[in-house]
Amino acid sequence: NNHDQDTTVATRVLIIGATGFIGRFVAEASVKSGRPTYALVRPTTLSSKPKVIQSLVDSGIQVVYGCLHDHNSLVKAIRQVDVVISTVGGALILDQLKIVDAIKEVGTVKRFLPSEFGHDVDRADPVEPALSFYIEKRKVRRAVEEAKIPYTYICCNSIAGWPYYYHTHPTELPPPKEQFEIYGDGSVKAFFVTGDDIGAYTMKAVDDPRTLNKSIHFRPPKNFLNLNELADIWENKINRTLPRVSVSAEDLVMIAKANFMPSSIVAALTHDIFINGCQFKFPIQEPHHVEACELYPDIKYTTMEDFFQGYL
Ligand code: NDP
Repeated sequence: NNHDQDTTVATRVLIIGATGFIGRFVAEASVKSGRPTYALVRPTTLSSKPKVIQSLVDSGIQVVYGCLHDHNSLVKAIRQVDVVISTVGGALILDQLKIVDAIKEVGTVKRFLPSEFGHDVDRADPVEPALSFYIEKRKVRRAVEEAKIPYTYICCNSIAGWPYYYHTHPTELPPPKEQFEIYGDGSVKAFFVTGDDIGAYTMKAVDDPRTLNKSIHFRPPKNFLNLNELADIWENKINRTLPRVSVSAEDLVMIAKANFMPSSIVAALTHDIFINGCQFKFPIQEPHHVEACELYPDIKYTTMEDFFQGYL
């Protein structure tokens, strides 16, 4: 994958959370880009996810053992690299303040990408409990900025897949076989980006001066679709029409209010995306915001047409 190797001196990358859902895409893309890639993995993960760790090792990633809550292990791992990418999960967002402390202590990190990988948390205003989740992500942003750590915030929008309102990792389920649940009237658009493309664009951005201290938004124009359009694409693939059942804005708010974790956060975000239109109602304004497809036109992103083909 030579076109990815466009940096003269290879940037060394540490991923914290490489065994997670988003982290695995980012880790694979990092190796593919030719950058020396390290993954900070908890020693206990060796017994809970041996196959995942083996696949990281097989792809050429150097696994270093450590934990967010073990400061010395963090400092030691961070000393070896230029860029730190965190893909820790929702429950650990505030624990990233420990990464901020370790990066401050090391003092040589050229870029930090905190665990964002969603929407612009400073501008979106979802209902609870997603709002509290965003407030935590905002606190991490402010800590990074106060510490004057160079950063990039990845606003990748929705990972490609049918956006089930109750599932944190939608690509782990195939698109519907019995019926579609359509949020509201199904006319509000969102951006869908495959996991591989999230990884590829993220790795383009990690050492690009044009993304320094900015938010980068992933808005692939061909994948700007509403739920009725997404349902049409899948129906064409399976050569069958399925009933479309409406889930109203009020239904989603009610599920959010039930405060079951993490599914109520997903319902609240589903409401913000497919009722409020949170992914497109903000313009991408220079100087603090850039768009990935414009910066990296050489990446041929996967369309939802092609992505759904993989489920047949
Ligand atoms: P996961 O829960 O799948 O993965 C979390 C990772 O953090 C795992 O690798 C886990 O390791 C690791 N981890 C947990 N505790 C520690 C610790 N103490 N020290 C070091 N590492 C630790 O997270 P997700 O991929 O679901 O979420 C990552 C980000 O992506 C979040 O910010 C989330 O909001 C966002 N996201 C965005 C989506 C989208 O559609 N745009 C969809 C899903 C998530 P272990 O494997 O050992 O548990």
